[in-house]
Amino acid sequence: MESITFGVLTISDTCYQEPAKDRSGPRLMGLIRQSFDNAQVVASVLPDERDLIQRELRKWIDRNDVRIIITTGGTGFAPRDVTPEATKPLLDKDCNQLTLAIALASLQKTKFAALSRGVCGIAGNTLVLNFPGSEKAVGECFEAVRELLPHALHLIGNNVALVQRTHAEVQGSAAALPKVLRRDHVCPHKTGAGDDVDRNSPFPMLPVDQALDNILSVVQRNNATNQQMDALLSPINIPPFRASIKDGYAMKSTGFPGTKRVVDFIAAGDKVSLHPLQEDECIKINTGAPLPEDADCVVQVEDTRLLQRDKYGEESLVDILVEPKAGQDVRSIGHDLRKGDKVFPSPDYSPVVFKSLLASVGCQLQRRKPKVAIISTGSELLAPQQPADAGKIYDSNTTMLEELLLYFGFDCMQQHVLGDDLMSITLTLSNIYDAVDFVICSGGVSMGDKDFIKPALEHLKFKVHFGRVNMKPGKPMTFASRGTKYFFGLPGNPVSAFVTFHLFALPAIRWADGWERAKCPLPIINVALLNEAIDLDARPEYVRASVSSINGQLHASVNGNQISSRLQSIVCADVLIHLPGRTATKLQARAGEIYSASVLRYDFISRYE
Ligand code: AMP
Ligand code: MG
Repeated sequence: MESITFGVLTISDTCYQEPAKDRSGPRLMGLIRQSFDNAQVVASVLPDERDLIQRELRKWIDRNDVRIIITTGGTGFAPRDVTPEATKPLLDKDCNQLTLAIALASLQKTKFAALSRGVCGIAGNTLVLNFPGSEKAVGECFEAVRELLPHALHLIGNNVALVQRTHAEVQGSAAALPKVLRRDHVCPHKTGAGDDVDRNSPFPMLPVDQALDNILSVVQRNNATNQQMDALLSPINIPPFRASIKDGYAMKSTGFPGTKRVVDFIAAGDKVSLHPLQEDECIKINTGAPLPEDADCVVQVEDTRLLQRDKYGEESLVDILVEPKAGQDVRSIGHDLRKGDKVFPSPDYSPVVFKSLLASVGCQLQRRKPKVAIISTGSELLAPQQPADAGKIYDSNTTMLEELLLYFGFDCMQQHVLGDDLMSITLTLSNIYDAVDFVICSGGVSMGDKDFIKPALEHLKFKVHFGRVNMKPGKPMTFASRGTKYFFGLPGNPVSAFVTFHLFALPAIRWADGWERAKCPLPIINVALLNEAIDLDARPEYVRASVSSINGQLHASVNGNQISSRLQSIVCADVLIHLPGRTATKLQARAGEIYSASVLRYDFISRYE
């Protein structure tokens, strides 16, 4: 290999005062000499003074022999840290991906790497890299870029022969460069075989059912809430006292029908009356009130007649028109639920059921729901409150996905809207998983050269389980995981994101929440098609349609143009009709034919006829 001259610039007020304290500069020089035969190194130590740093950098950049400058120190947040500010004005080109590679490698060691502001770029023929000041960080950063440096210099020097040789080596051995950086040279729409003719996605196209099975076999189900529900025993009897089922009169059943004196009145919420009762006496009672100690039945008010009131207007004499029977209209203690019995006969995740049953026994359970974040990617995206702008479109996916999560009872912990920028996508993803289990991302999974989701996942060591599904809309749907962290890459077109959320992301989140397998996907019903004829697509299609109940039978009509960008097709969309892929013998779906359909909403019937 040819000899390279490196510049190593230590930037530190302390080391400038006492050069013996500089350990990072010498460490770098050692690493350079170890890694590159015949490497030459020029070195210097400067204080954190912008002008001095810039003057030294400029001097080295102007030298023909110095091809790589590595600075160490002055990249932090302290007021005196100005290395990036001194470096940036000298750069002709930013090398963001190189900065990213360094940041990612460092972040894998420590979170504090996020506090380094170092930059990388090209000045003339020289590559300039800012490393942090610590000796350890210098070693890690150097390791992150070591293999790339010779190839970077060949590219900067436009040394075609050497560039081609490296490409051949990379494609042959697949070892020399980190894959994500190799993407800079390989279009994402190619299979990676290195052949320009092959412009297909490298991902096999999975059937929808298989894609969902795949997801549910990867996502871990949290059984804790199930177990808590199963183990919860009631600490109380319901009702906790003998309660009247009716408004009426409590009495002894050993008595008789006919005239009785009203000796007391008990309302719901009163304590048990200890008033002694004779067989010709009764106590007026309300529904839900505790039965008096001496009574064993209630005769409802409809079966009585008021005979007399006292001077205060209170009832004093009633005629009991029916035979009193023991236990009549009385709920015994623990009639609905006995103390020590299971509160949940079987697990039920409906928040209505879960919360109201807990309330009924005065208990609380902490339910750990899956933590979900939403990311929308696209440099064209405008927040809905921003003014319209040329070349931009309003971001509807962020709002739609958040509202869908809320609609289905889950929370959205974080939202990010990112441009088509590999660095910000990778860094955001790298940080976000500290706080969440699921990321639902839209955009950036198709075949464009700005679709960076798959390279970012690859770099973050996520396993991409699939990257294409045989469906319309939603073909580029991508699912990836790393341990118990899950990533859904929904296509950016709003309707594609809508459909793939319902068919894949929602079932996965429910599964993680502990739901039964059969309940994870949307409920499926049969509908009769109302449209005259619909041309079938080569792929199975999930068509937004609105449901009419005609004489109790469910019918569905398709909501206009089904192009995946047209969000209007979700208006009054009660179901997604599952239209099969076209075959040689079946080209169209026709009126009256019965199809399965996934129910999108609780109020899923738009019309009754
Ligand atoms: P992509 O999946 O990134 O290739 O995007 C496909 C189409 O969806 C493009 O026309 C995008 O402009 C559009 N799109 C992507 N993200 C959003 C979003 N958040 N809201 C609305 N449209 C979007
Ligand atoms: Mg995009």
